[in-house]
Amino acid sequence: MSIRPRKALIIGAGIAGPVAGILLRRAGIEAQIFEAWPYSKGIGGGLQIAPNGMQVMDELGLAREVIGRGSIADSFDFYSQGGQKLGSINRDMERRFGQPAVNICRATLNEILIDKAWCSCVSLYFEKRLIKIEDRGDQPIIAYFADGTTAEGDFLIGADGVHSVARRQVVPDGPKPFNTGLIGFGGFVPRTVLAGRAIGQRVETTFGQSGFFGYGLCSSDADDGVMWWSTQPAHGMDAAMFRAQDQATLKQHLRDFHRGWHDPIPAIIEAAENIVVTDTLDVSTLPTWSRKRSLLIGDAAHATSPHAGQGASLALEDALRLGRLMAEGQELSATFQNFEAERRPRAEKIVAIARRNGNSKREFSATGAFIRDQMLKWLLPLSSKGMDFMYAYDARAA
Ligand SMILES: Cc1cc2nc3c(=O)[nH]c(=O)nc-3n(C[C@H](O)[C@H](O)[C@H](O)COP(=O)(O)OP(=O)(O)OC[C@H]3O[C@@H](n4cnc5c(N)ncnc54)[C@H](O)[C@@H]3O)c2cc1C
Repeated sequence: MSIRPRKALIIGAGIAGPVAGILLRRAGIEAQIFEAWPYSKGIGGGLQIAPNGMQVMDELGLAREVIGRGSIADSFDFYSQGGQKLGSINRDMERRFGQPAVNICRATLNEILIDKAWCSCVSLYFEKRLIKIEDRGDQPIIAYFADGTTAEGDFLIGADGVHSVARRQVVPDGPKPFNTGLIGFGGFVPRTVLAGRAIGQRVETTFGQSGFFGYGLCSSDADDGVMWWSTQPAHGMDAAMFRAQDQATLKQHLRDFHRGWHDPIPAIIEAAENIVVTDTLDVSTLPTWSRKRSLLIGDAAHATSPHAGQGASLALEDALRLGRLMAEGQELSATFQNFEAERRPRAEKIVAIARRNGNSKREFSATGAFIRDQMLKWLLPLSSKGMDFMYAYDARAA
């Protein structure tokens, strides 16, 4: 295929999509983004952008805004269910890696990225759910949307997340997302719930005999809330089954599950409102990330379970590297192959770490949990060192 691509169709306005749009525009390529949902400032939950993701934000000129509207996470502290401190990792990230880790509401991050995309002359279309792609290789690619409309471009970037429809085009009989057996609950509570417990910039997390709990600040505004999350074995339930329950029932479930856990966990659960439930999904390794004129990036290419706190940062890195490679002006298929050759080893290494971390949140016997906790005291400093490669990566210098 020998074409000089001029117009990109990007599917998904989550994290990878808007950033890819901004960087493709910088490379002189027209970018149109199509998002399935209406524009909303209410998308739920909080997340952490690691230093490697913050390098991408810096490249976009957005690092200061993200830090200003989020909350720097200076360390991750780990506790046992009874409140015994097991260790602390990821300290002093800004000095060590050039950028801090930042907790931020997903809705705020999305708003920052979408605004930047608008200002960068990226065209954004909401309520455009991709249902099919026609990719004949030697002719413009056509995206078909659920509302009956179509769009035509020189190539298509599938940034449509873990349930990617674009993935089906690239790998027609490929792997589907599967449930990892863990389920996530989360939301925000007022800071007053932490009264008397000055957590500052620490993210406090707790390993239970079964499951995991975490909380931390995610905004620099003292009136804003605290983000919290609970990860639990699913026991045959999935997120849709929990979502069918009312909030009072969900809260009672959390009360029962975390009964006897150390303070302030019970108070956080009592104050919880608008509890969000998510499946913890994974997708097996794809045989390829591209086909003809379509390329997958972010979770569409390498869905990353949340246990390494890296999915968003990998998506940001992907977008930056794609923008840089496209700017080199090589033939499209060569660019796609170079992209995959460069990104796949790093993404798969981190996906594997996330899977491994998820295992320590499953169910243990009382003795098993005690042994795990003792081992964590030794292992946390070692595994912390082993994770430095994730944070030290600067996609601008790659
Ligand atoms: C509970 C939870 C907590 C997490 N915490 C963290 C964390 O702290 N740090 C971290 O780095 N990562 C975290 N992650 C992972 C992170 O959210 C993802 O890795 C990241 O969002 C991937 O970005 P993306 O742009 O590839 O996909 P997404 O952010 O999922 O964006 C995909 C977009 O595509 C749209 N879309 C989907 N299908 C279509 C379609 N057919 N047509 C048009 N549009 C479509 C979606 O609506 C969405 O807007 C967490 C994930 C979960 C579930």
